[in-house]
Amino acid sequence: MFKRILIANRGEIAVRIIRCCREMKIETVVIYSEADEKSLPVMIANKAVCIGPAKVSESYLNQDVIIEIARRMDCDAIHPGYGFLSENADFAKLCEENGIAFIGPSSDIISHMGDKQSARTLMMKSGVPVVPGSRDLIKSVDEAAVIADEIGYPVLIKASAGGGGKGIRKVFSKEELAGAFETARAEAKSAFGNDDMYIEKLIVDPSHIEIQILADHEGNTVYLGERDCSIQRNNQKLLEEAPSPKLSHELRRSMGETAVAAARACGYNSAGTVEFVVDKDGSYYFIEMNTRIQVEHPVTEEITGIDLIREQIRIAAGMKLSISQEDIDISGHAIECRINAQTPGEITFLHFPAGYGVRVESHIFAGYEVSPFYDSMIAKIIVTGKTRIMAIHRLRRALEELVIEGIETNTEFMHLLTYHPEFIRGRYNTSFWEGNHEEIEQWLKEGL
Ligand code: ADP
Repeated sequence: MFKRILIANRGEIAVRIIRCCREMKIETVVIYSEADEKSLPVMIANKAVCIGPAKVSESYLNQDVIIEIARRMDCDAIHPGYGFLSENADFAKLCEENGIAFIGPSSDIISHMGDKQSARTLMMKSGVPVVPGSRDLIKSVDEAAVIADEIGYPVLIKASAGGGGKGIRKVFSKEELAGAFETARAEAKSAFGNDDMYIEKLIVDPSHIEIQILADHEGNTVYLGERDCSIQRNNQKLLEEAPSPKLSHELRRSMGETAVAAARACGYNSAGTVEFVVDKDGSYYFIEMNTRIQVEHPVTEEITGIDLIREQIRIAAGMKLSISQEDIDISGHAIECRINAQTPGEITFLHFPAGYGVRVESHIFAGYEVSPFYDSMIAKIIVTGKTRIMAIHRLRRALEELVIEGIETNTEFMHLLTYHPEFIRGRYNTSFWEGNHEEIEQWLKEGL
């Protein structure tokens, strides 16, 4: 097992990894930017090293300096968390070349699956259902038009290097195609430095359902059920739950086995997530694989009792999976609600919910300054109940207990969201936000 892990991240995920390492008797070194000097990871890691100014290119993305610190501090592994360098194949390679274990899959897997069109092509070859669309990269608007005619409108133009919902455009008719193609391509170029594009059929009002998998270096691969992440705003997830209220046992098993096949097809060897869109008739299509730990991983931990970060670290250390598919028993229902800061500033008072079935993952404290430089997520409230309705009641109670003063947050909005009939019935899809946010905002103003 590793002796000392460098954590190349910040915020709640850095805290989550440090806590796990402490339980595993692994020492931690966390890097931080000048803006994060007074932060929880810096206080609770065994050692903390300032890496540079707030700007991410000079701190959390500064690969050479991170490697240099890892070597100087005698770290045998680097955990990249999510975001930042977590899906950067060059960085994983740099770790490999320096004899430092990258806690994630091998660099060649990241580059293969990080390129979405190449991942699609591999999935098609392996019999995994993908959304109908291009077989190769699209070089021109004319080529896009031919494929769009073939698959039929509406279509989705996507950046092959895409992430975080950038470089994606919906197109409903031939007239809109050229404009959408060029704007998506320009956005991809500036966001990812790569303007490779592909095209997919737009599945109307699908659910976003993803399967958590674990795979070790010996080819043992298991799935740990699904997460329903259909409640999104601008392709950013807001609330996630497991199990999905929409899946039958048969569909769950089929999607789980397909996710395992997808992982096997690329020789996967870490914790990972296979994302699907699911149509109203239960047809499902691969959209992408995330080769890292995800923000919403706790809901899976809550219903399986498996510590995903611990498994991820063990796998990176070359250990065999400690569980087989038969050992994985899903029980209860878990919901995660993301609490986002809507304004930067100092948190003047803080009270977190607690009690039976409530888990809080966060890095904030009273006196903490929420900086404008990074992600606005400041806490995740995760609740678990025996049934979905018990989990919903618990989530409401937990959000009622949560007090964050000094800054604006989405807490009240999320609390009201749990009263929306579509959410309660579990019949929501990725259009939930568009269709309902105005109504919920109205409740916010006027009361339910
Ligand atoms: P990113 O990596 O930028 O998050 P994804 O490919 O995961 O991009 O897509 C983001 C979101 O867009 C998904 O969560 C899903 O809700 C929606 N989406 C993606 N592909 C399709 C599709 N073919 N049809 C309908 N919705 C889609």
